[in-house]
Amino acid sequence: MKYYILFGPPGAGKGTQAAPMAQRFNLRHISTGALLRAEIAAGTALGKEAAVLIEKGCLVPDEVVEGMIESAFNAEKEAVGFILDGFPRTVSQARDLDALLARRGESLTAVVSLIIPDSVVKERIAGRAAIEGRADDAKPEVIENRIRTYHEKTEPLIAYYKETGKYHEVPAEGTIEEVGARINELVDRF
Ligand code: AMP
Repeated sequence: MKYYILFGPPGAGKGTQAAPMAQRFNLRHISTGALLRAEIAAGTALGKEAAVLIEKGCLVPDEVVEGMIESAFNAEKEAVGFILDGFPRTVSQARDLDALLARRGESLTAVVSLIIPDSVVKERIAGRAAIEGRADDAKPEVIENRIRTYHEKTEPLIAYYKETGKYHEVPAEGTIEEVGARINELVDRF
């Protein structure tokens, strides 16, 4: 199995790029944010707990997202691999992912890191708010908190993955097609 992490700040285009990437390479797209939003929409206990944190732009507990990732891995029968979008988001999630993959006799294939400045991130999230109607995209203070959380908790993963030699950067400015072509070129190599 192939295991790709699509990495980057909120608004970098991870969800947008994961869909065509999944189709092209027969990978299953797992977005922890989308799975959490589905729990919220279904009104589950997990969804209610997560909603409070997501609405503030905070992270949900590691064990919650890790449980969802493991179930998604176990449920897959057809694809040749996975694209993880929005996971891992902390160094402890990354360590737990390594351990989970090792237990399955697998390892990470590559980290595809979308590089984009904060100013463009803010523009993209504002644009997406109008289209997708996500509550956490609508409030400036929540967007600020998500960007701050990214820098504090998620950005340290770059150093973590650079050490593994599996970390690859892709400039994420430009059209969806331009960025997609850069990603395809990279994924073709692994
Ligand atoms: P996203 O759709 O990836 O932007 O995620 C939306 C929100 O879901 C985030 O702001 C977090 O509150 C929560 N979330 C998604 N993935 C994770 C994760 N791996 N760890 C903790 N919280 C997460």
